[in-house]
Amino acid sequence: MPTPAIFLDRDGTLIVERNYLSDPDQVELLPTVPESLLRLANDGYLLVIITNQSGIGRGYFSTNVLDEIHQRLFQLLDLEHVKIQHFYVCPHTPDDKCVCRKPLPYLIFQAAKELDIDLSQSWIIGDKPADVGLAPAVGKGAILVRTGYGHQFENDPAVQLFRPFIADNLAMAADKILGTTTDDAALIR
Ligand SMILES: [Mg+2]
Ligand SMILES: [Zn+2]
Repeated sequence: MPTPAIFLDRDGTLIVERNYLSDPDQVELLPTVPESLLRLANDGYLLVIITNQSGIGRGYFSTNVLDEIHQRLFQLLDLEHVKIQHFYVCPHTPDDKCVCRKPLPYLIFQAAKELDIDLSQSWIIGDKPADVGLAPAVGKGAILVRTGYGHQFENDPAVQLFRPFIADNLAMAADKILGTTTDDAALIR
């Protein structure tokens, strides 16, 4: 049976934004991330990271380094009993005019096909317009987190266009998804 998924941005959403992170030692989970991912996974959501990594296309770091960064991320999450097995990367620059760079939904559709995801019951969470722009690909819509660059973009027309929920952090996003929110005033439709 198709599974609902949470499509998660990486930088500024799960880990501290480092501006072209290229050192595994610089991987640092944002507050509330492990427990929020655990709650979502326990509720039956598949966790899938979708990330634009143009630092590869720009020659700032290699795919080997990217692998090391992801191993470190998975290690840190594993220590908190969170298992993420699925991630999809666009390594291109905007100039490459590729098909897979967010906000294009190519990687979401690829994930849905490979992992048997029910897109109608799925969400996207991220901190940039390119993340929120994926909202039309999923039935439940987008959540902009104020971590990373999110606080800079919440009033951006490219974000407002998709009418995302706005959450201070991943915990508040999880509350919205799970219906466990106790403070609706903190979530702006
Ligand atoms: Mg981001
Ligand atoms: Zn691409």
